[in-house]
Amino acid sequence: MLNASLKELSGLLAAKKISSVELTQTFLDRIAALNPSLNAFITVDAEKSLAQARVADERIAAGKAGALTGIPFAQKDIFCARDWLSTCGSKMLANFSAPYDAHVIEQFNRAGAVNLGKTNMDEFAMGSSNETSFFGKVRNPWDVDRVPGGSSGGSAAAVAARLCPAATGTDTGGSIRQPAALNGITGLKPTYGTVSRYGMIAFASSLDQAGPMARSAEDCALMMNVMAGFDSRDSTSLEREKEDYSRDLDKPLQGLRIGLPREYFAEGLSADVARAVEAALAEYRRLGAETVEISLPNTRLSIPVYYVLAPAEASSNLARYDGVRYGYRAPEYGDLTDMYQKTRAQGFGAEVKRRIMIGTYVLSAGYYDAYYIQAQKLRRLIAQDFEAAFRQCDVIMGPTSPTTAFRLGEKSDDPVSMYLSDIYTIAVNLAGLPGMSVPCGFGDGGLPVGLQIVGNYFAEARMLNAAHQYQLATDWHLRLPPLCE
Ligand code: GLN
Repeated sequence: MLNASLKELSGLLAAKKISSVELTQTFLDRIAALNPSLNAFITVDAEKSLAQARVADERIAAGKAGALTGIPFAQKDIFCARDWLSTCGSKMLANFSAPYDAHVIEQFNRAGAVNLGKTNMDEFAMGSSNETSFFGKVRNPWDVDRVPGGSSGGSAAAVAARLCPAATGTDTGGSIRQPAALNGITGLKPTYGTVSRYGMIAFASSLDQAGPMARSAEDCALMMNVMAGFDSRDSTSLEREKEDYSRDLDKPLQGLRIGLPREYFAEGLSADVARAVEAALAEYRRLGAETVEISLPNTRLSIPVYYVLAPAEASSNLARYDGVRYGYRAPEYGDLTDMYQKTRAQGFGAEVKRRIMIGTYVLSAGYYDAYYIQAQKLRRLIAQDFEAAFRQCDVIMGPTSPTTAFRLGEKSDDPVSMYLSDIYTIAVNLAGLPGMSVPCGFGDGGLPVGLQIVGNYFAEARMLNAAHQYQLATDWHLRLPPLCE
């Protein structure tokens, strides 16, 4: 049952071979056994989860179940969930119990899914290694001395170690795809505006997007059917017709044109990752796809552009944590200004402070044009690179991350080398495009490698189709980490 797909679990629940309460308990037991070594969850509340499971069982008995009714999902702790601690991995919100549900949580609740708990993450989703969480680092189930990636590392580790059937993540510059790659799971960052950001704690609002993290593309499609959709409470939510993300899964790949960006197979890509990705591309050719070389000439600008824009937005978004309205407040202070200063000095970790300072600097009157405006212009050029590329191909493929999981602590003292782990993912957010990561083999030391698939705007169904056909032909996504054997 731990390895069953969402479709299989749904079938077992419908046939009453298992109840939602039993299923939920199975995963709660698994969390109790393995979470101490992984630290993938910040909050688990068996009573709350089981109460939801009982309601789901009633709904199933009444014949009113949907595709995900009764299935437990882990939720990244960036989503506000009513009466659940919603910490965003920060001391600032360590005592914050959300008074309302995020749109994503609401959608899962409406579908009758069970909230299995809140997963660990880099503080305010800033990071690529899950080492910046106030609640301690997360470990990678493939090698517990290595990072799970970030910032959705708790969700990724939980899915990989079968602590949950699937989970949610958010991706501002790679935080769904990079941890998916490092843990051997499948993750999708949708087109910007597809999934409402309402109740999702903001990092960089023009880049943040929630998406599914699961074992397979088929599971991701089912989750997208629940997560996506217009929401008037998010001004950037797109008013589009509801779509069935599973609709194209079974289409053959004959004639699919895959663009391979020259810049993604260049210096900086480690040899073991390159080998696995090349083998995956060979498999795609066997499946009937053709590959064409393309160029994304402004790739090298994506990290500097992101590290101006994301901190700028973050410095503004995080201004709300002032110790007045909610969250942490310094226990001792003098006047109001001193209270703000002590609260923010004590409540935020080092990486968050670094970003707030960079963001405040690039937005300051004297530098605004030189940094922020300039970065906005370059963002446009990066988006235009993709526009040109999609005239030559249907999807773009390449490595998700330049290396496999690195050692805990390896990059902690070198922020720039940490930032480079997102070199292939960040441009996708800057352009607002959908991207996914699919397990495509193993590198040195048996560590998982991810293949990135990038589509044009709203091409999620086509990407899921490409991923699903590959997963029918390969079994990388079914391999279990040593911790599970
Ligand atoms: N690693 C990137 C950062 O630190 C991206 C994080 C994300 O996507 N949330 O900002």
